[in-house]
Amino acid sequence: MKYMDYAATTPPHPEVARTIADIMSLHYGNPSSLHILGEQSEQLLKKAREVCAGALQVRPAEIVFTSGATESNNAAIKGAALQFMNRGKHLITTEIEHPSVYECCKQLESLGWEVTYLPVDERGQVTPEQVCAAVRSDTVLVSVMHVNNEVGSIEPVEEIGRRLKQEHPRVLFHVDGVQGFGKVSLSLQDSGIDLYSLSAHKLRGPKGIGLLYIREGIKLLPLLAGGGQEAARRSGTENIPYIVGMAKALRLANEGQRELAERLRRLQAALIRGISDLPKLMLNSTPQGAPHIIHFSYPGMKAEAMLHMLEEEGFLVSTKSACSSKKSEPSRVLLAMGRSMEEASTGIRISLGEEHTEQDIEQFLAALRKAVARMEDLKGRG
Ligand code: PLP
Repeated sequence: MKYMDYAATTPPHPEVARTIADIMSLHYGNPSSLHILGEQSEQLLKKAREVCAGALQVRPAEIVFTSGATESNNAAIKGAALQFMNRGKHLITTEIEHPSVYECCKQLESLGWEVTYLPVDERGQVTPEQVCAAVRSDTVLVSVMHVNNEVGSIEPVEEIGRRLKQEHPRVLFHVDGVQGFGKVSLSLQDSGIDLYSLSAHKLRGPKGIGLLYIREGIKLLPLLAGGGQEAARRSGTENIPYIVGMAKALRLANEGQRELAERLRRLQAALIRGISDLPKLMLNSTPQGAPHIIHFSYPGMKAEAMLHMLEEEGFLVSTKSACSSKKSEPSRVLLAMGRSMEEASTGIRISLGEEHTEQDIEQFLAALRKAVARMEDLKGRG
């Protein structure tokens, strides 16, 4: 089986898996404990924070460990909304955010906040002008993802951040960086980004661990109150094995970014060529998007049937994003990009990673051609 669903999750790096297993059995102390085992865990935590900060080129004190990007996104948005509710109750985001941003905003709307959902163009992008034009005197936060998880569109977040800080310096800027880190370069320095979410399992790290970068000087209302861990920004006993595993995964992803992105770009180009040769398929990704995600629609056909045909041929892909693929509604992202209900209901996403080769892409395209021929044959027979 060839796993081509890296945007859903990635196979853990063997070095990361080994590190986690070692730490789990050897360094189980609570970093808040005063004895030697506690001290050892505290040292591991400190080192991991430094490594993560190094990978992001920020200060260690600006990193808060969380249970994943869903928590990071909620902590950033709700934390800012609640902290600054006396300043205003207006938020800005886009129509194509991951549910952990979108549903979080919907929840806040039900509690009395106002949210502007910016539309995107047919490639799935917003512009800095759109963002700045939507800012009001009561806006407290803007949240825009770096790379879209369904179609791979890259949002101009550095430009948005810079414009926002020039024109509206009091408005906080949050970026969901989950699908961009390790694939598309981004500098948190001088970009106006105040808050940035990451998840380890998209980067060959473990599931259930992530981080939120909080620019120095910014105070959010913590989602989790309790024992005051993470400098009282996120209470709960720290998950040392996973935090250390994530640090290793981030370091590896960072070191390999340029080479991986170049390789994926070549594979993506071959896939896009092959898909474009099949007139029944409609590409929703562009070669300007992130190099690891390729998405197409197959109007008139059930995406799930296509997925299982590809699975029979030995390829694991997905319909929409992993978290929404079990829901039968059309893709909110594709509808926002102006696709029809039919096109938005028949999407297939292929997402690539380190293990893939040119030969895999050739074999995948052969399987895709075969699956399309079978689907057309079935359709012909009514
Ligand atoms: N944001 C984006 C863009 C994602 O793709 C995902 C995962 O699918 C998340 C957030 C949520 O991450 P996690 O699984 O760590 O909660």
